[in-house]
Amino acid sequence: MSLFKSMLAATAMAATLITGAARAEYPERNITMVVPFAAGGPTDTVARLVAEAMSKDLGQQILIENVGGAGGSLGAGRVASAEADGYTLLLHHIGMATSATLYRKLAYDTLNAFEYVGLVTEVPMTIVARKDFEPADLKGLVDYVKANKDKVTVANAGIGAASHLCGMMFMSAVETPLVTVPYKGTGPAMTDLLGGQVDIMCDQTTNTTKQIQGGTIKAYAVTSPARLAIFPDLPTAVEGGLPGFEVGIWHGIYAPKGTPAAATEKLSASLQKALKDPNVVARFAELGTIPSSDADATPAALKAKLESEIARWKPVIEAAGQYAD
Ligand code: ASP
Repeated sequence: MSLFKSMLAATAMAATLITGAARAEYPERNITMVVPFAAGGPTDTVARLVAEAMSKDLGQQILIENVGGAGGSLGAGRVASAEADGYTLLLHHIGMATSATLYRKLAYDTLNAFEYVGLVTEVPMTIVARKDFEPADLKGLVDYVKANKDKVTVANAGIGAASHLCGMMFMSAVETPLVTVPYKGTGPAMTDLLGGQVDIMCDQTTNTTKQIQGGTIKAYAVTSPARLAIFPDLPTAVEGGLPGFEVGIWHGIYAPKGTPAAATEKLSASLQKALKDPNVVARFAELGTIPSSDADATPAALKAKLESEIARWKPVIEAAGQYAD
């Protein structure tokens, strides 16, 4: 081999080694995980627990960035246009699917702007009120809101948020439109509920459990098909007199379109480990939050879930005929 050829061969080998090493080392620096709601709320709680466990596994920090607004679509838009290098992620919930129909214009094309890491949790919701709200039970609440529809205020985290969806389901179940008060997340909405500035809210157990157990807010029902072990005395909405009122909130982790599969696969494997971390398992159990199985914490399962949930909610939203710009 000529000197020139062997130099070329050596350079090629070095390049292969460097590429191989770089790939093997992902992640080489901190990762940003965008939470599209305010800090201190339910999505933020899920993200911080999972990110902490994944950081330990990956050997790099996953830092949370809260980008609240427009029911989660501002944060999703920020990630859709971020660099597709594995260092920017999005942890979003069911709003990723409902916003695809709810918003006439989104800054991203929901099904074509992201790569998938995996499903994270399934979370039930609770119908709650400020502590001193008059009605004693769900039946009483229904009668009360019907009689006081111009007075009762419902907090939510903006159009596309889980609390918005659940609040809409409640208003349609009781056939009574109510005054809604949007926040950048149900973290700040909870502060106002505790302070008595708003009356009712439908929010994830991840955010309401502590307050319900501490008696600082009033709880009327859970939206799961069966009662929850953490609230054995709290009826389901169906038991309480609202037929068909069932909704569960799922979370998933996404990356910008074009993120290398080697990165999303590594993140998915790490997510699966994080969801079995004893601290995560214990905290989720306390908060009525169910970690996704290994089979669900995969790119394929999240993609399938997003597609089926867009199809599921599209006709419901179209029938309601309420859109956001
Ligand atoms: N997940 C939102 C939050 O974290 C609340 C919602 O969607 O209702 O604030």
